[in-house]
Amino acid sequence: MAPRPGQRQGCPICGAPPTERLAPFCSTACADRDLAQWVTGRYAIASAIPESSESDGMASSNGDQNS
Ligand SMILES: [Zn+2]
Repeated sequence: MAPRPGQRQGCPICGAPPTERLAPFCSTACADRDLAQWVTGRYAIASAIPESSESDGMASSNGDQNS
């Protein structure tokens, strides 16, 4: 019976009450900022991953059979 954390927390960026359409953000500015942070973090993580993981998937050798 634990209360859900984050349910009533408001905007994760500035803490203001979230707008219904933009939940959990309060404004497009905050949503934008969060997205930017997410993308930045994703890029940072991607560049930190060794390239060896890419040889595991079939990249382009599999897309030529269709045409
Ligand atoms: Zn906000």
